[in-house]
Amino acid sequence: MRYYAKPLGKLIGELSKLPGIGGKTAQRLAFHILSLPDSEAEALAEAVVEAKHNMKYCSVCGNLTDTDPCALCGDSTRSKNTICVVESPRDVFAMERIKEYKGLYHVLHGVISPMDGIGPDEINLKSLILRLQSDAEISEVILATNPNIEGEATAMYIARLLKPSGIKVTRIAHGIPVGGDLEYADEITLLKAMEGRREL
Ligand SMILES: [Zn+2]
Repeated sequence: MRYYAKPLGKLIGELSKLPGIGGKTAQRLAFHILSLPDSEAEALAEAVVEAKHNMKYCSVCGNLTDTDPCALCGDSTRSKNTICVVESPRDVFAMERIKEYKGLYHVLHGVISPMDGIGPDEINLKSLILRLQSDAEISEVILATNPNIEGEATAMYIARLLKPSGIKVTRIAHGIPVGGDLEYADEITLLKAMEGRREL
């Protein structure tokens, strides 16, 4: 970094902290940003600050939103009978991309992972149970955690937890490769996974 003037080095340093951005890409992005007209560079900086200030988690489903409840929870055209449980807000976007699912969501913000010291209390699970207890309309919970060890274990844990409630609990099928991420699945794979979901 010492080859760069301080402000440039700082910009490269910050950009290289982003996921998937190595040193060389960070350098290319930084030079590109510096070549932009002032207004465009400022618009980029403002978008970062604005998103950071205005985005929060929906108090109902845990999705990222600028309103509370979020647009999905507040959408009267969506079915209130089904809740699709996902790991992260990114998975909500992935599911919405297939335009097939018309129910509600619940974002766990993680998975149970004893190896990493993450138990059921460390993820957004209690609020799901409260939601199910207070809303008699919900008749199915679709567990759409990722098909890896932690995702499977979390789905099994939730399925066992919900068993006494009598609510139908289904698991998405493995059109998604084991070890794969929902976020990176193409639309058809995700669609097949939803169609082939099974009751747990
Ligand atoms: Zn919501």
